[in-house]
Amino acid sequence: MDNNKGGGGQSVVLVVDDDMAERLLMVETLLESNLIVEEAEDGVEALEVFRRISPDLVLMDVKMPRMDGFTACTEMRKLPGGIDSAIVLVTGLDDMASIQRSFDAGATDFITKPVNWPLLNHRVRYLLRAGKAFRHLRQSEQRLSIAQKIARLGNWDCDFDTNNVYCSKQMFTLFGLDPVEGGVSYGMFLQCVHPDEKEAVQVAVQKALQEKKAYRLEYRITLENGSSRIIHEQAEVEYDAYGAPLWMHGTVQDISERKQSEERIRFLAYYDSLTGLPNRQLFNEYVGQALFAALRDKSKVALLYLGVDRFKRINDTLGHSAGDELLKKVATCLSDCIRCSDIFGKFVLPREPKLSLSRLTGDEFSILLTGLAEEEHAARVARRMLEMLQKPIFINGQEINVSCSIGISIFPGDTEEVEVLLKNADVAMFHAKQSGGSTFKFFSNDMNDRAVERLNIEIGLKKALERDELVLFYQPQIDLQSGKIAGLEALIRWQHPELGLVAPFKFIPVAEESGLIVPIGEWVLREACRQAYEWQQAGLAPIRMGVNISSHQFRQADLVPMVKQVLLDSGLSSLVLELELTESSIMQDLDKTIETLAQLKEVGVNLSVDDFGTGYSSMSYLKRFPLDTLKIDRSFVMDITTDPNDAAIIKAIIAVAKTLGLKTIAEGVETEEQLEFLRHNLCDEMQGFFISKPKPADEVEHFLTPGLKLC
Ligand code: C2E
Ligand code: MG
Ligand code: MG
Repeated sequence: MDNNKGGGGQSVVLVVDDDMAERLLMVETLLESNLIVEEAEDGVEALEVFRRISPDLVLMDVKMPRMDGFTACTEMRKLPGGIDSAIVLVTGLDDMASIQRSFDAGATDFITKPVNWPLLNHRVRYLLRAGKAFRHLRQSEQRLSIAQKIARLGNWDCDFDTNNVYCSKQMFTLFGLDPVEGGVSYGMFLQCVHPDEKEAVQVAVQKALQEKKAYRLEYRITLENGSSRIIHEQAEVEYDAYGAPLWMHGTVQDISERKQSEERIRFLAYYDSLTGLPNRQLFNEYVGQALFAALRDKSKVALLYLGVDRFKRINDTLGHSAGDELLKKVATCLSDCIRCSDIFGKFVLPREPKLSLSRLTGDEFSILLTGLAEEEHAARVARRMLEMLQKPIFINGQEINVSCSIGISIFPGDTEEVEVLLKNADVAMFHAKQSGGSTFKFFSNDMNDRAVERLNIEIGLKKALERDELVLFYQPQIDLQSGKIAGLEALIRWQHPELGLVAPFKFIPVAEESGLIVPIGEWVLREACRQAYEWQQAGLAPIRMGVNISSHQFRQADLVPMVKQVLLDSGLSSLVLELELTESSIMQDLDKTIETLAQLKEVGVNLSVDDFGTGYSSMSYLKRFPLDTLKIDRSFVMDITTDPNDAAIIKAIIAVAKTLGLKTIAEGVETEEQLEFLRHNLCDEMQGFFISKPKPADEVEHFLTPGLKLC
């Protein structure tokens, strides 16, 4: 802003002199030039007036009482606006010492006494004009400096005559150096450049000079405190008329933040934020390159697809943060495996170890092994990984034992497409899991056919519920002593629009894996309860209704409230409902099992163990579980009349059940001999084709005729 105090753009001048006559003369002279003039009679008063009016120009005698002109000048320079005013000291004509002191005190100029009055106004006008120009210059320099600070931008100019570099304040700040007035050496800045990049900077400057071209480059600098910045520099050379370089002008900008954001964006786009491993996209790109290289070198590539066995359960039981922790540890373990070149031998060490491991989704990782001589080497790596991952992992002080399954697909093979190679490895992993986990499998085409079929079932099953394609069949259970019906087991069927009636073994496993068993299981329970209630209302014998509960369903947190709600909605008494639980589902997570079983018992339902004898049962737990019935698996019943071993097993199961106070039902009874054997050995009930296959509701109704004796 300009310092004109007068409304009409007039400049303000302060005249300071203790000699009143001299002062008045000066004032009178200045007033002729259309200036606003204020007066003071010594240094002290001058400072007061200065503070009030901030004059554009001060004309001040040096010799004054109280405070002389030199001191007043020095003090004025310290006041707000003090550097913008022109201060002219009036000294004696040949008083060289005073002239020197005037400049030392910060005076702009001096005039000598006796004053040349005719010239005074010209001199003053010149000083005012120069002052104004200086002010403008300072203001624009200030604005430039602020703009540079905001943009984290500095500039420099190198004079080739002296080899001095002149820099803006911001340039010093960016390089973490103390500002120096005047020129500095080029080396001072070069010293800050990261050692790895010094040469590149020097080459760029040399090239710019030789080729007469501007240059731009990025480099890192290291500050005194050890931190670093990334600098973007642009410069160009100014030449004289003969083509000799005169100056080089350049700008430097701190782009560290921008670089960091770019780095972060790249990271988010290409890496998994939990494990820091490459994500699927980056991995796929890398695999693509590796396949290309393998074609050229005629070498083999193996793609390993690794999944943590039963990860969902670990996650549900221990919580998501522990699950995340586990995945991080698995990632670290796999990275270590890949880095250990001595373990695998050089031949399978990937070219780019960092990119050869990726987290694809949730608990699934992929590993690329390049330069394989034989497929067997991939098996060696897989085996080694499984071994390493089998060691206990500690999370929050808790020991967790995990196992993994690995699927392997090999290139060159049936496909050159990365996605297909990956899918094949996934299919192979699925098979490894199916066979019990903690193992690896190579992909084969046969697996693929099964995978496609499985996928079709999953897709169809999703729609089956909405389209009402599921139906229940019922199979009678007979009391062996009375020969009368004791209950029915509800067994699901899928009335597929193209495939016809689909048996549960074809789709129940898929429903379990995909989680679809939860809505399907609830539908079965509802339908079975509804049907049982309808039969009761119709006056038929009130018999027990058995419903199968899959292990996935059994572990659902809301199983008990769901059962309660379904009973409530259907109107059926809990006493006639029997839930069939498989041996394997109740023998996992035993504490939780006891809790769930107790809650179900409180609801009032009967509980039976299905397929008893096929899995592993702990007798001590069987004793603690509030169960009602053991269902002896069909595989034992099949040969009871021919295989003495099976006969012995059945007798033993019946004896155990009796001591535990449990009822027994034998499944899969197909012949009269089997029936008689069971009856003779005091098995309580039987179920099987000998009496009836599972049938639709309307076809089993006649078994429910009160008093009907069936065997
Ligand atoms: P499960 O619960 O052990 O059911 C008994 C199975 O044995 C039934 O097969 C039945 O048809 C068959 N069966 C009964 N008597 C004989 C016989 O004398 N000879 C022979 N060869 N087989 C006999 P199904 O209906 O094919 O069901 C197979 C399995 O599918 C069931 O075994 C059960 O584990 C599961 N399942 C069926 N319905 C459901 C359901 O609604 N929910 C769940 N979670 N699983 C179900
Ligand atoms: Mg059953
Ligand atoms: Mg069974």
